[in-house]
Amino acid sequence: MTALYKQLTSAFPKLVFKQDEPLAPYTTVKIGGPAEVFCQVDTTKDLADLTIYAKQHALDITILGWGANTLIADRGIRGLVVKNTANAVAVLPSVPEGALSSRVVPRWDDTARQQHLPQKHVTHGEHVAVRVDAGTPLSYLINTLLQQNIVGLEWFARIPATLGGAIYNNIHGAHTFISDYIHSVEVVGEDGRIHTLPANKLAFAYDYSRFHHTNEVILSAILLLYKGNGTKALKQSIDWAKAKKHHPQNSLGCIFQNLSAQDQARLALPTPSVSYVIDQVLDLKGFTIGGARVSEKHAAFIENTANATADEYLAVIKHLQAVAREQSGVQLQPEIFFKGFTTDELAGVIHTDTYNTL
Ligand SMILES: Cc1cc2nc3c(=O)[nH]c(=O)nc-3n(C[C@H](O)[C@H](O)[C@H](O)COP(=O)(O)OP(=O)(O)OC[C@H]3O[C@@H](n4cnc5c(N)ncnc54)[C@H](O)[C@@H]3O)c2cc1C
Repeated sequence: MTALYKQLTSAFPKLVFKQDEPLAPYTTVKIGGPAEVFCQVDTTKDLADLTIYAKQHALDITILGWGANTLIADRGIRGLVVKNTANAVAVLPSVPEGALSSRVVPRWDDTARQQHLPQKHVTHGEHVAVRVDAGTPLSYLINTLLQQNIVGLEWFARIPATLGGAIYNNIHGAHTFISDYIHSVEVVGEDGRIHTLPANKLAFAYDYSRFHHTNEVILSAILLLYKGNGTKALKQSIDWAKAKKHHPQNSLGCIFQNLSAQDQARLALPTPSVSYVIDQVLDLKGFTIGGARVSEKHAAFIENTANATADEYLAVIKHLQAVAREQSGVQLQPEIFFKGFTTDELAGVIHTDTYNTL
């Protein structure tokens, strides 16, 4: 029995802790070694209490949502790993005061940006505010809201994620971002206290939020959504999900960010799509190391085809980056997160300081 396990079980006798729990099953790509100590929490209160305790006692703590964007090292993760499955969804009686005047205007209400929207956008009625736990799976959230004729999140259909993970990386679907719907987020701050942060303090950008650079833990968020026709919106979300059915599920989603406008112009490419670059420019579709393979269906995805290790998966990432650099002068920037790796193992892979190391 490790000292950490003993400490946590005696501090939280009602929670279930496991030692050396394999983490691969908690990820979409099914890769990764064990957690030193693991705990699944079903309520935001348990998540907050554990996080505050970890901060007060300087314990390493890692939060896992759906595990759809996280590559876990083969040696696993030291410290406490918390799988967040808290999933309360509550429609608020009214929109918080000042919420509409202080928000960033979303693109469907901004005439200059409307042309970038996909067709068949469901009509938005009056605003509705909804408080959602960070561990809520997006698919469950979308369906729960549509049953109550609350619309807006349809474009995120078929993205495997919890709301916390979606906010962390500001997910995108059909040219909309989750940040378009966020009013505020409740977090445990680095000071070990609970804070409410308004959306304009979250530094949202493409595949980015302030949470990349803080050790804050997201507990819940208030979303600003719309009344609308739930049946029509459900059809739209199903159609959209079908259009994405070629996305390989045994993966971590798109591994790299799309190209910058400068790189696209310099290489005279018809699209900034990183999938196009890997497939048409680098000719690396199907490239394989061990059980990790660049998908034949969508070249921006790396699949686990046969018990891939994290080392193999990382080796494919490094190979794609090296070939892109040598052949096209492009620096491919990962949009996934690495947990349990050393700084040396990730040298040259990440070009910001957004990763956790041992
Ligand atoms: C098949 C497939 C398709 C995908 N399609 C898309 C797509 O269309 N668009 C898109 O944007 N993404 C897509 N993704 C990527 C992925 O779904 C998103 O990045 C999603 O946000 C991951 O959420 P998660 O809950 O799985 O996060 P995790 O992988 O569990 O965690 C990701 C990061 O967030 C942190 N985190 C999670 N919860 C919290 C919390 N409560 N507080 C603080 N930190 C937290 C974790 O520590 C980690 O650093 C796809 C992935 C797959 C596998």
